[in-house]
Amino acid sequence: MPSNREHLILGGGIIGCSIALELARRGESVTVVERHGEVGHGTTSASCAIVRCFYSTDTMTALAHEGASIWSAWREHLQPTQDEELARFLRCGMLFIQTTETSVVQETIARMQRHGVEVQWLDATQLRARFPYLDVASQFPVRSPDADDFFEPTGRQIAGAVHELKAGYVISPALATRNIRDAAARAGARFHLGDEVLAIEGSTGLGDTGVANGLVSDRFRLRMQSGKTLHGDVLVNAAGPHSSLVNRMAAVDLGIETRPLRREVHALSNPAHERPGVAPVPIVADIDSGLYFQPEAGGIDLLLGSLDPQGDVMEWLEDPDENDVQSSVACHERHLLRLMKRFPEVQFERKRGLGSMYDVTTLDWNPVLDRTDRPGYYVAIGTSGSSFKTAPVIGKLMTELITQVEAGHDHDQHPLQMRLEQTGIEIDLGFFSRLRGAHNSSNTVLG
Ligand SMILES: Cc1cc2nc3c(=O)[nH]c(=O)nc-3n(C[C@H](O)[C@H](O)[C@H](O)COP(=O)(O)OP(=O)(O)OC[C@H]3O[C@@H](n4cnc5c(N)ncnc54)[C@H](O)[C@@H]3O)c2cc1C
Repeated sequence: MPSNREHLILGGGIIGCSIALELARRGESVTVVERHGEVGHGTTSASCAIVRCFYSTDTMTALAHEGASIWSAWREHLQPTQDEELARFLRCGMLFIQTTETSVVQETIARMQRHGVEVQWLDATQLRARFPYLDVASQFPVRSPDADDFFEPTGRQIAGAVHELKAGYVISPALATRNIRDAAARAGARFHLGDEVLAIEGSTGLGDTGVANGLVSDRFRLRMQSGKTLHGDVLVNAAGPHSSLVNRMAAVDLGIETRPLRREVHALSNPAHERPGVAPVPIVADIDSGLYFQPEAGGIDLLLGSLDPQGDVMEWLEDPDENDVQSSVACHERHLLRLMKRFPEVQFERKRGLGSMYDVTTLDWNPVLDRTDRPGYYVAIGTSGSSFKTAPVIGKLMTELITQVEAGHDHDQHPLQMRLEQTGIEIDLGFFSRLRGAHNSSNTVLG
């Protein structure tokens, strides 16, 4: 039975839209509020949209595996009208290049296998045979291109790479978000676009000011830039890198920090595109070099980003609205010169790239998906550069959480358990609690 609550989702990225879809599918009244004129135009649009299951914990591996199952059945998930253009999940495989084959690497492989993920270990010789354009020299510890010895060989080889065979990426993240919006709209969700939330007001109970969809609610009043006021009983913070600002607007001290971290992603030509008899370039998380790269536009180009090796400056932003969307010459050079050691055929090209942001949970780089101490106020934040892949699952998870907590369940004391629909694995939603201690994590985007 649907409730008679009005749900407001603050943020029309892939997370907010996924939550709206699942709430609407349960017959709930839901409105997504987004300051851009279209959904998916925040940091989601800059996402590399990589879908992989290589994580440091069982819960994140399970969540990612469930996400991958949904992406591979995108049409079934959305049930679109026939003529709709849909995002595509391309499974090109992914390498995780390791300096040494530690017990942590072996445990990661074992964890992935336990969850049914297809994975194998390739030593340096096997890697070179399979992907001959990749150099197998070790670059660890990662040096700055400014260092005098940057071009000097280390004389060591990498140990090899974890090869996740069915990892891939989605084309395109913005289209995927619009697909979700359309599915949510078909299920009855509303979208209030092109209007910014300037203030969050309201009491903690039902009052007599304001009418929303026939309901009288004063729990949340959103003061909008347009001068309008939106009313709701439930408010979900899905504001991406603006999450901590929105928590402040709602006068909620979460007790767990989320912060915008500026990122740059650069594009370059793929020198090994369509080379006969050679495996196409997979996605590569080069942990040894502190880089990741992936095919783009069907493999004509590569996208290149950083895994934040030690020694690189982290660009934490106080104000997400101060993010410079232009990429910098210094970062472009740093990334590209490092890549040229791993992929020597890459040419030094003119700068093509953009600056965007992760919303990072500084504690452990895992998301915060939880209720808060303010009744009716929920958060789906701190996605730390890696929650595109899991967004459709997060939509289901948040819907279950909101439904149960609004019905009186004490999730803080008795964390909800949820069985994932595709993979059948049960996860403990307490993992994502704002009250948790730090989970095992690489404290990078790899989680
Ligand atoms: C460069 C980069 C690469 C990434 N690569 C990957 C990857 O390969 N794989 C992966 O799984 N994940 C990846 N991610 C992470 C993934 O893209 C994010 O976790 C995900 O897109 C976050 O979605 P979101 O909806 O929370 O945030 P957003 O898309 O930022 O949505 C939040 C929305 O809230 C709106 N908003 C904020 N404040 C207000 C307000 N006051 N009023 C109205 N609207 C407001 C914003 O306009 C925005 O549209 C990457 C991220 C980046 C930046």
